[in-house]
Amino acid sequence: MFNKRIKIKELLATEPQNQQATVMGWVRTFRNNQFIALNDGSTNNNLQVVVELGKFPEELLRRITTSASLKVSGTVVPSLGKGQKMDLKADSIEILGDSDAEKYPLQPKKHSLEFLREIAHLRFRTNTFGAIFRVRHALAFAVHKFFHEKGFVYMHTPIITASDAEGAGEMFRVSTLPFDNPPRNEDGSIDFKEDFFGRPTNLTVSGQLEGELGATAFGDIYTFGPTFRAENSNTARHLAEFWMIEPEMAFYDLEDNANLAEEFIRYIIQFALDNNREDLEFLDQRLAEEEKQLPQDKRSEMGLIEKLNFVLENSFQRLTYTEAIDILRDSNHNKKKKFQYPITGWGMDLQSEHERYLVEKHFKKPVILMNYPKEIKAFYMRQNDDGKTVAAMDILAPGIGEIVGGSQREERQDKLEQRMKEMHIPAEELWWYLDTRRFGTVPHAGFGLGFERMVLFVTGMNNIRDVIAFPRTPKSAEF
Ligand code: ATP
Ligand code: MN
Repeated sequence: MFNKRIKIKELLATEPQNQQATVMGWVRTFRNNQFIALNDGSTNNNLQVVVELGKFPEELLRRITTSASLKVSGTVVPSLGKGQKMDLKADSIEILGDSDAEKYPLQPKKHSLEFLREIAHLRFRTNTFGAIFRVRHALAFAVHKFFHEKGFVYMHTPIITASDAEGAGEMFRVSTLPFDNPPRNEDGSIDFKEDFFGRPTNLTVSGQLEGELGATAFGDIYTFGPTFRAENSNTARHLAEFWMIEPEMAFYDLEDNANLAEEFIRYIIQFALDNNREDLEFLDQRLAEEEKQLPQDKRSEMGLIEKLNFVLENSFQRLTYTEAIDILRDSNHNKKKKFQYPITGWGMDLQSEHERYLVEKHFKKPVILMNYPKEIKAFYMRQNDDGKTVAAMDILAPGIGEIVGGSQREERQDKLEQRMKEMHIPAEELWWYLDTRRFGTVPHAGFGLGFERMVLFVTGMNNIRDVIAFPRTPKSAEF
């Protein structure tokens, strides 16, 4: 058996009392031919391995270079040096993999996030990305824990879909037809009957419609999987491939939906604070350092952990779309023409600058906007009695903008079919969806939370490319 090691995080939590330990990891630095800072990814804290002078051959010591991988066995003793409570006094050192430190792209200095994106295959080995991706893991785990504890069923909705009705975004086509010479119909159009599935198919933009099928049997379900949008918007908030969590609940109205979303967001933040304190403290410091470069008025008013605690302790501001438009229209910001898209009036879609104004300048806390004009929302959202709005809700977070989009769904078959007709959505294609309204329809609701936007919020990072391992964005699919 090879893997008789203790993880460095676990070892550092023990008391040094001359116990034996074996660790494995990568060399961060090697000082004075004596002190190895070893990291194994379990924590940003390195273990100091002490190499006694004269105990090991010169030839071995020369191979202990930055990023070389080692197996070290020895005795755990209280450290004589400052900055760490223990040392591992090496009895044996085995080089598992050599590394040419000259060619190794990560030097022990500060690299820019842009540069690190170009070496995304190695960036996990930095403290910043170590912290980010351990926090990302904790959040993902907390998602499952939250829903499991509430009795939700985790449902895997399909990644390849034939329906493009949802209209959440531009889709990626899935096909095995030859690009250069696809089979054609007599009128020259492509003959998809010859394609793999015998019809056009795409990568999913959302699991919601299938999620509703699950909710109307299990009561409460959630999905947590990849979704794809071929949106050509090169922003710091959009990916072409991102992970979405979509709970769908039978017997829920819009308020129940908003309550669950708030509870859910708090729960996963609390979980990260409880389980990843060290990493969050590191990211808090990182953000504070970074913001020192900014002019005073561009800095956040709160530190990262302070902001997370604020969200735990304060309820989200709820208001209607109509109220939001009034606030925006009457704002000095609008009067002084500081919005790129001026507030033209009721019915307009909100841009992210408007969302961020509400959250960051006006309310200074997360906001839940409800009851949007039906014209700017999807066909499946429940029509309100005013004939103008639907029971939609978006949750807006400071520094991010929209983090959740959801709604109560239209459970009344006649209303749903009428809205589909108005929006030119072919009912034949969605026969299976409409069946839920035919056979024991119930009030139900759900929402979608963009996982990477949540990770951005919790880590205090600015660019969505830095919170997913290998980002997919327009003109970029390396690794
Ligand atoms: P936006 O207006 O920001 O493009 P949207 O209205 O298209 O978002 P929805 O269709 O409601 O978003 O999707 C649900 C959630 O998925 C959003 O609230 C957001 O958190 C996330 N999301 C949407 N598009 C993307 C994307 N391209 N990359 C990452 N996350 C996304
Ligand atoms: Mn979008």
